[in-house]
Formats: sequence, structure tokens, C-alpha cells
Amino acid sequence: MIAAVDESRYVFAPAAQPVVPVAGEAGGFPVHRIYCVGQNYREHAREMGDSGREPPFFFAKPADAVCPGPVVPYPPLTQNLHHEVELVVALGLGGADVAAERALELVYGYTVGVDLTRRDLQAAARQAGRPWTTAKGFDRSAPLAPLQPVARCGHPRNAAIRLSVNGMLRQQGNTADMTWSVAEVLAELSRYFELAAGDLVFTGTPPGIGPLAPGDHVECEVEGVARLEFRMEAR
Ligand code: MN
Repeated sequence: MIAAVDESRYVFAPAAQPVVPVAGEAGGFPVHRIYCVGQNYREHAREMGDSGREPPFFFAKPADAVCPGPVVPYPPLTQNLHHEVELVVALGLGGADVAAERALELVYGYTVGVDLTRRDLQAAARQAGRPWTTAKGFDRSAPLAPLQPVARCGHPRNAAIRLSVNGMLRQQGNTADMTWSVAEVLAELSRYFELAAGDLVFTGTPPGIGPLAPGDHVECEVEGVARLEFRMEAR
């Protein structure tokens, strides 16, 4: 049933609810927030210039940054757009100060996504000690495959994760190499924010990040969970 919107409650019609399709379900997953973890695979932390032993840190993308493909727009104001393939956790329950031992109970499902990054703007922001919003949180910066409910795919604790561009393998890793596990990430995140059903969490990228050009064909997967294919829109 779809309730009619009481238009008298708003000065104009509210924005549409961002939704991610769910494999095997007619209904979609309504997105609440998108959190991202920085540098959660040791080899990627090293390629970004850190030792890989720091605790996780978080940033966010707007909920409507989700993008199903098959075509992803090439964003303006960057000369160095990068791909970061990531395991994405989708929450079906929320909570604050969740213990790591119980954190997986919040998980609705998983998928694979790409944390698209304007690397040039990120480098400038790091240099100046400024926020990453324009580097990470731009429109359509979160291409995402349909979700797999955890009942179907289980918790991918030891799953290959990879991304290729125009048929060439660029990123390769395994979720077992995450510095902080999904449970630890959710527990830590829930100390800063009250998590809610509908939250998506990008859990960090394995090594091999690199640039995307207009027209590039991107394929990525978390083995046994989900696979995503899209093309960067030609300019
Ligand atoms: Mn990332």
C-alpha cells in the first residue's frame, strides 16, 4: 500500500527516497545514510602513505549518491577520478554503542560498490586539512550492485574482491585482509552515530586504486556476494 503524501505538510514535494534493489525481492532497500571507512586494508593504507595500523576513520556520502548503472556520469571538476572497490554492508536494524560481538545482528545484507573519489580534490583537502565532501560525496559517487540478503550470501569473511577496467585487473584483495572486520567497523561507527535500518557502510578498499577515464568499462565483484558492471559516461 502506498500512502498518499499529505502535501499540506511541506512547502514543496519531498525528494524521492533513494532505493537499492534487493536480489530476489520485489521491494527495494530504502537508503538512510551512507558511511565509509578509510584505509581498511593494510596494502591500500600503505599506498596512501600510512602505516596501516591506525584505527578506522569515517566519512560519508549523501544517501542519493547511490547509482545502479549501467552508465555512471563522469563528475565535473576533477582530472583524476579514482575507483575504490568495496564490500558494502546494508543494515536492517540500528543501534548506538553496539558491541562487536552483537554487531552482525544488525546486518540485512551485503553487496559490492565503488567509492568513486576525486583523488585530486582529496589530495588538496588532505594538504589543507579541509573536509573531503567534494572529493567523496558528489552526485552518483556510489555505484552499487543489488543487495544480497545475508540469508542468501552469509557473512563474507573470506571472499575475494576485485575490480577491472576495460578487461584489465586493477584491484584485488580478500575481505579477510580487512584491518577492522565488519563487526568491529559497525561497533566503532555506532559509538559516533546511532545506526539505523537503511544505513549502508562502505568498508574500505584493497590495493590497486587508479584512475577512470570517460568511456571506461568497469567490472567488479565480491565473490559469492555480488557483481557490478558499469560504463563511465563519455564526455
Ligand atoms: Mn573508500
